[in-house]
Amino acid sequence: MDTTPHGTQVDVGIVGGGPAGLMTALLLRRRGISAAVVEARSEETIAHTQRAGILEAPTVQMLLDADIGSRVLTEGHEHTGTVLSFEGDQRRIDFQELVGRSVWLYPQNEVFRDLAAAWQREEGIIHWSVENTAVEGLDSDRPQIGFTDADGVSRTIEARVIVGADGSRSMCRKLIPEGVRTDHFTSYPFAWFGILCEAPPTAPELIYANSEVGFALISQRSDTVQRMYFQCDPDTDPESWSDDEIFDHIQRVLGGEEVVELRRGRITERTVLPFRSYVCDPLTYGRLVLAGDAGHTVPPTGAKGLNLAFSDVRALVPRLEELLGDPAARPDDDGLFDPLRRYSATALDRVWKAQNFSYWATNLLHRRPDEDSFAHLRRRGEFQAITRSAYGRGYFADSYTGWAD
Ligand SMILES: Cc1cc2nc3c(=O)[nH]c(=O)nc-3n(C[C@H](O)[C@H](O)[C@H](O)COP(=O)(O)OP(=O)(O)OC[C@H]3O[C@@H](n4cnc5c(N)ncnc54)[C@H](O)[C@@H]3O)c2cc1C
Repeated sequence: MDTTPHGTQVDVGIVGGGPAGLMTALLLRRRGISAAVVEARSEETIAHTQRAGILEAPTVQMLLDADIGSRVLTEGHEHTGTVLSFEGDQRRIDFQELVGRSVWLYPQNEVFRDLAAAWQREEGIIHWSVENTAVEGLDSDRPQIGFTDADGVSRTIEARVIVGADGSRSMCRKLIPEGVRTDHFTSYPFAWFGILCEAPPTAPELIYANSEVGFALISQRSDTVQRMYFQCDPDTDPESWSDDEIFDHIQRVLGGEEVVELRRGRITERTVLPFRSYVCDPLTYGRLVLAGDAGHTVPPTGAKGLNLAFSDVRALVPRLEELLGDPAARPDDDGLFDPLRRYSATALDRVWKAQNFSYWATNLLHRRPDEDSFAHLRRRGEFQAITRSAYGRGYFADSYTGWAD
């Protein structure tokens, strides 16, 4: 690493200090590779933003292997199963019995705190609250990230590779020329209305519930704060529902108080979360490579977004080390470096499995606005085929807890 007043030279420059960016920086450091991160938001903002909550077994293992801290085990909650419900017919999927794995409920903002603390403990370079991020010189051997830091000073990070870990609205992704990049996209005619509320848990495990008025998810955050979602129109104004209307609706989706009694409390946060499925192929061009939501997004039903960010990093770091270890490496005729092309292929294999699971679970559990009786009863048949067969439950458990490869 080499530093001048307004410029820094490292092996890898990273745009985005979310889970993908910070995990990449940390794992590179473990291999003796220097990295620097620029992040548009403040550390405080990210640490208080509620997003994902379910960590697959391989994600938890990565946190432990990287020595980032074991709070996930002490403060997170192991879930050995989950409940699927169709019109009040509740069926438990026992992950441990079916595939011998669990998931952990550990909120993304806590994962972020652990990663940011580890990076700062190791005195890693990170610039929070940057503006005007621009990546230049991708066709040279030393591309640069230019940005304005939190004090208004223009700075550059010069690197041998740039990792675009800048989330679903990625600016880096657009630097892959349209002739090289294929965008695969689908959208859905519904969204999730998400709330955080001050209440005790309604149930010990997640409940994915489905009814004639649509979908709801009962999730937990702590003994006193709960996360819940229900299906809504993408144009819904979150302020247009009263607290009572929200809880009455979720209770109805669960199947009434005789099935499960919803625990209510003061709603402290409400958001509408649009659904889309997107994959960028390839995840690289020249000395730029994408990781996490920058390269793909999934609807939240399968709880895969954060986990895919981690599996990308797992696949990416060895390939970055390979590329950096070969100073004579040159791109092929498509402008791709071989190690990064192989990273893209490996990562996209898992991404497409996750896309399939997320798409399938979304369509199984949500009611389309134009659903007729045939479509509804077919979905009920599918629900029964999955939940009443060990093979069906096994598919769900294997996918949800994170495939072994
Ligand atoms: C409400 C909600 C619920 C979710 N629930 C789940 C769930 O249950 N399970 C699950 O697995 N996933 C879930 N997800 C998805 C999950 O949060 C994402 O997949 C995950 O954050 C991806 O991590 P990332 O690092 O790729 O992107 P991000 O976390 O989005 O991080 C990207 C970072 O890049 C920064 N950035 C962007 N542009 C720039 C720029 N130009 N310059 C500098 N920095 C920039 C952003 O500020 C951001 O901090 C949910 C998402 C939302 C919104």
